Amino acid sequence: MRAVLSVGANLDDAARAVDGVLGYFRPETVAVSPVYDTAPWGVTDQPDFANAVVVIDTRDSPEELLGRCQALEDAAGRVREMRWGPRTLDVDIVQCTDADGSEIRRATERLTLPHPHSHERAFVLVPWLAADPDARLSGVPVSDLVDGLPPEDVAGVRLPGEEQP
Ligand code: ATP
Ligand code: CA
Ligand code: CA
Repeated sequence: MRAVLSVGANLDDAARAVDGVLGYFRPETVAVSPVYDTAPWGVTDQPDFANAVVVIDTRDSPEELLGRCQALEDAAGRVREMRWGPRTLDVDIVQCTDADGSEIRRATERLTLPHPHSHERAFVLVPWLAADPDARLSGVPVSDLVDGLPPEDVAGVRLPGEEQP
């Protein structure tokens, strides 16, 4: 299957933690975004994040892939405290698709696919679009989803070195 992963971190050396995950998935990588500096979402009283999206082709099932993502989080010393709060590493599965391009769906406690919040998160959609300009989420072009986001959310997703608006 093909999988789209959102990788984020905002503690310690966040960009390095994200880079480490991108390196880990390199053998399976089809496309990858730059690592962005992003304003925190949901819980805004915390440091900025480093965020990237990587598209992989893997022989794993969605559940196996989630296990690998969580092992990476554990290896980075992730402590599970507040949802959406500060973390050394977060690896979410945004979307999985079959060989025929159809979206794989899950609705269990452990795994929801596609990820329920991705369509409204600039820090997922902007990097995803950079990695794959033709990306679609549940049939909708990701470029259209980005166009529909609040401009201030999109402005909060910056390439390192870009001026803050
Ligand atoms: P959010 O999921 O809104 O981005 P979060 O990443 O802060 O919030 P976590 O504490 O990292 O949330 O994860 C909580 C649980 O979400 C995990 O234990 C995992 O089993 C579950 N989960 C459900 N669907 C997914 C998915 N698509 N990708 C990653 N984890 C998922
Ligand atoms: Ca997350
Ligand atoms: Ca997560």
